[in-house]
Amino acid sequence: MNRNTVHARPDQGYVMFVDMNSFFASCEQQMNYYLRGRPVGVCVYTGENGCVIAPSIEARQRGVKTGMRLREAIRLCPELVPLESRPERYREFHVRIIEVLRRYAQEVIPKSIDEAVIDLRSYKRVYPDLMALARQIKTDIREQVGEWLRCSIGIAPNAFLAKLGTELQKPDGLVMITPENIDQILAGLSLTDLPGIAERMAQRLKKGGIHTPLELRHASPHHLRQVCQSIVGLHWHYRLNFAEVDIMDHPYKTMQAMRQISAAQRQRVESLHDLLVALCMTLERRMVNQRVCCREVTVQFTYTYTRQWHQVIRLPQPVQEGTWLLQAIRQRMEHFVRIHHCEPLINDQLTAMGISVSDFVPEELVPLSLFEEPVRRQNLLRAVYDIKDRFGPDKLIKAVELSDAQPMKDAIGFGSVKDLHARQT
Ligand SMILES: [Mg+2]
Repeated sequence: MNRNTVHARPDQGYVMFVDMNSFFASCEQQMNYYLRGRPVGVCVYTGENGCVIAPSIEARQRGVKTGMRLREAIRLCPELVPLESRPERYREFHVRIIEVLRRYAQEVIPKSIDEAVIDLRSYKRVYPDLMALARQIKTDIREQVGEWLRCSIGIAPNAFLAKLGTELQKPDGLVMITPENIDQILAGLSLTDLPGIAERMAQRLKKGGIHTPLELRHASPHHLRQVCQSIVGLHWHYRLNFAEVDIMDHPYKTMQAMRQISAAQRQRVESLHDLLVALCMTLERRMVNQRVCCREVTVQFTYTYTRQWHQVIRLPQPVQEGTWLLQAIRQRMEHFVRIHHCEPLINDQLTAMGISVSDFVPEELVPLSLFEEPVRRQNLLRAVYDIKDRFGPDKLIKAVELSDAQPMKDAIGFGSVKDLHARQT
């Protein structure tokens, strides 16, 4: 279910955003008493050139920032304890924290490994005092998950403002944004204090005469649309006026890409191979949009003689890349042909080809034995699609998509409308 709605009004209730403070480092301090109260820097590698990916609250207070080289961090804070990251440990804490939140409401949507939104809009009568509820949640996390874990909680009529609430007080913050105090809160902020507004966007808004978050809130939707030259401007109007555009669930159980094959197309077996590539790339795009990886692929080929080849492939690790899907499918085809001594499965009798992916994991939870690599790859994939969106799908293509024919064009129609909305937020 997609819970976004632009019609939401403040009197329809509130959502709560829970953001764990210095999560990775706090987990390490939770597990190791000796580290508590000391500046800790979690790194992927602890070599001289390693980067601090998560400084503890104490390290932050001494000026250590995320992304800083270890060398520089130690110069700034000589007593820093560098630690190698242990993602499986952080995932375990994540799962336990989500369990605590789900005791209060079913509608808990993890946004990343250390953040979640609780949609409390249908719990108005159950929890009349949301500040008290937030304090109870903080206590529960400390008592039931780990005494060293702290979080900032924001409460607001929509997920964006609730997240903004968590940014305003760290660590261990609790801020409620209401129609009564929003103007006062925004008055103390600059445009780039709003999550999602970087320098470039701020410049664009300033050119359009919008210099502060307060002006952004009170600008007309029409003007914002013009300034941003897209629906993005409209979203900023909604966000600051209490409508919901940011609660995104992972509503998919499965994504499917399929294609009927005409008698004429069937004659060119080469183009059928291209079609298989296109279907895999379509699914890749949709998984990138939804920020998920799949653990299972199902292949269904239908033939003129009304037979089907149906296979479920369990992937050794969660996959987002189309080329990996393709590789898994090709391996399975080769294996099948070898043991059954049959003709190639992609042949001139094919009438339909369908690939579906399922058993999704949010991409930020993908096992990170893999740590740096997949993060970079996902970022790269997202960058590729941003370029495609901005400049057209043919401006940047993977080598695997190259062929004389243009199966990608045909495949684009397989996406769901939901994917389109996902790109705009
Ligand atoms: Mg955090």
